[in-house]
Amino acid sequence: MDRPKPKHKIKKSLPVRTNPSARKAHAAPKLESKARNAAAEIGDIVRTRAEVEAALAEAQKSDERLREAIDILPQGIVFLDAEGRYILCNKKYSEIYHKSADLFRPGAYLKDTLRIGVERGDYPEAEGREEEWIAERLAKLNRPGERHEQTLSDGRVILIEERKTGDGGLIGLRVDITELKQREASFRLLFDGNPVPMIVCAQDDERIISVNDAALSHYGYSREDFQKLKIAHIQAFESEAPWTGDQTKEERVARTWKHIKADGSLIDVAIYSRDLTFDDKPAVLLALMDITERKRAEARLAFMAQHDGLTGLPNRILLRQKLDELLVSTRRSGDKVAVLFLDLDNFKAINDTLGHAIGDKLLKGVTKRLKSSLREDDSVARLGSDEFAVVQAGVQRPEDVAFTARRLIDAIGEPYLFDGHTIVSGASIGIAIAPGDGDDAERLLKNADMALSRAKSEGHGTFSFFESEMDARAQTRRRIEIDLRDAIENSVLQPYYQPLVDLKSGRITGFEALVRWPHPERGMIPPGEFIPVAEETGLINAVGGLMLRRACMDAAKWPDDVRVAVNLSPLQFRVGNLLSVVMDALKHSGLSPRRLELEITETLLLDKSDQVLATLHALRALGVRISMDDFGTGYSSLSYLRSFPFDKIKIDQSFVRGLASNHDAQAIVRSIVSLGKGLGVTITAEGVETEDELSCLRAEGCDEGQGFLFSKARANGEITQLLLAQRAANDQAVA
Ligand code: C2E
Ligand code: MG
Ligand code: MG
Repeated sequence: MDRPKPKHKIKKSLPVRTNPSARKAHAAPKLESKARNAAAEIGDIVRTRAEVEAALAEAQKSDERLREAIDILPQGIVFLDAEGRYILCNKKYSEIYHKSADLFRPGAYLKDTLRIGVERGDYPEAEGREEEWIAERLAKLNRPGERHEQTLSDGRVILIEERKTGDGGLIGLRVDITELKQREASFRLLFDGNPVPMIVCAQDDERIISVNDAALSHYGYSREDFQKLKIAHIQAFESEAPWTGDQTKEERVARTWKHIKADGSLIDVAIYSRDLTFDDKPAVLLALMDITERKRAEARLAFMAQHDGLTGLPNRILLRQKLDELLVSTRRSGDKVAVLFLDLDNFKAINDTLGHAIGDKLLKGVTKRLKSSLREDDSVARLGSDEFAVVQAGVQRPEDVAFTARRLIDAIGEPYLFDGHTIVSGASIGIAIAPGDGDDAERLLKNADMALSRAKSEGHGTFSFFESEMDARAQTRRRIEIDLRDAIENSVLQPYYQPLVDLKSGRITGFEALVRWPHPERGMIPPGEFIPVAEETGLINAVGGLMLRRACMDAAKWPDDVRVAVNLSPLQFRVGNLLSVVMDALKHSGLSPRRLELEITETLLLDKSDQVLATLHALRALGVRISMDDFGTGYSSLSYLRSFPFDKIKIDQSFVRGLASNHDAQAIVRSIVSLGKGLGVTITAEGVETEDELSCLRAEGCDEGQGFLFSKARANGEITQLLLAQRAANDQAVA
């Protein structure tokens, strides 16, 4: 743009004398003075001119300084006079409007430059409404102080601010805000199009100022309704502290909230927030992550970790936790808390014979009955396969707990009907009461479990209270277990042999191998003390295998007509390798299977399991003889005798004791003997101690006897002697 020429005022005192009549009246002297005056005037003019030039130069300089000053400004600057004509604009202004820069000559009217610019398409906003747009733009000149934006044809956005100057003109400021606008647009896009629901809230009154589309569709409010709410209105609980307030950012992020949707449903939300300025006011941008599903899954997992999947009852973990909490609170109140440890009596048999589906139904049925037999305050948990525990608070007297135990046993004992099967189950219960029997969950459960063992050993369908000596007994058992492992490892256990005598001939037909444990401190430990521990701990398989191998090896060296009998625990049948253990023992020793007798008890046949019967048949097929031991002590069901073709029945010593004077026992022995005769089975009487018992047994026609009267169990070395003596006696008799 051409620079406008500065306007300078010429000094008012400059004399201008041009009158011709005055010149004629004073000819010569006047001429002289005229010349002097003229010279003076010329001098004045020269001086004035110099002054003018100096002033002009000065003005030029200040003009340049002003130009330089406004040219270095980053904003565009324009000066208009009161008529709206250009006076001056800076470089930035020309750059901003570079398409129209040729029009900005001083003196040119802004309205004209606008019009030309509009015609050339420099202002896309004017398209189609050119006159209107120009009028609006010019009207803004009369309302300076208001900011407005203008979009140019190259897409740039210019912020315009104008102010009146003292002489009625206008000074205009232009800022290129294109980048700012782009950032704003991308933020808007990021906000509006974000798939995460977002809200902008005012910081002062928590009013919702803006919401994105995702928030609208997620919460179900219309934009209008949403923007009428405060953030507290969508929080489900008034007790929840609002998201702003004094919380630190970490607190805001760490916390989750329950929000309420337009349809009233509740959702869990994690909120991420950031402070910002919105419409020039302090605000907070909230990103609302719906974590309802995650929370639900977490809750499900937490539930599963603490509950039993089948019955939905609390598991051992939760029970212990609840019990400990209860014990802490009752420690203060002094209330008693009872733990009832409950175990189903025949669950395994039901599960094995009728299948797991029925077993599961039974457990669910038991759960239902337990729940309906208990008070609301009592809690019940499933601890293991068929183990349940009940916790009863506010117990006054042990009788109350006994009453509950009896009620539970009765409820569980009622028949169940599943898939056409009528099932009868039963339960035994062990009871421990805090604080006397322990004041922490661990101890109480352990003691209740010990009481349960006692209840079971006393017969099914009963309950038993914990007694302190049970604990001592448990410790002894623990000691036995440790020592027994040691004894097995160091081959300390050994068989002793007790003769079986043919009652007709008096000849030894065989020996029963009975395990002996010489303990370095406790002397000879009887099997009755450690066999049950071995059975509980699974060590019985090692003990049983050892006895089989040793007995077969020893017997292989005895005369061919002498058998060996080995006791088997029902648990040895569970492992599944009993047949191969027996075959190995026979093979290694070279003993004929015909010389091996295996003694089993009725408990093995309780379950009538196919696997047990198959094993028994396979053993018998080898040629091994199978005896029914301790007959008469268990269920003594004749059906057991029918279920398997036994080779021998051993009458328990309790029927033999005092037989001569006990008519009932005699009747029993007589019937067992005749049963044996009918089935073609050898009948052996155990525990024969007196001659009277012996003669009675002989009179009843019993085949075989075993007992202290003949001999106690002896070490193998002594047996060899015994057999040698028998042979010598025989030889003598023959001779
Ligand atoms: P059982 O199989 O009935 O063995 C007979 C038990 O009666 C033996 O007791 C024996 O010493 C005892 N006895 C023999 N004659 C008389 C008598 O005249 N009077 C009295 N009062 N008792 C007599 P023991 O050796 O203490 O064995 C007890 C039980 O331990 C055995 O009863 C058997 O069930 C079990 N047992 C012994 N050894 C083994 C073994 O190696 N494996 C398994 N699984 N159990 C075994
Ligand atoms: Mg036996
Ligand atoms: Mg016996």
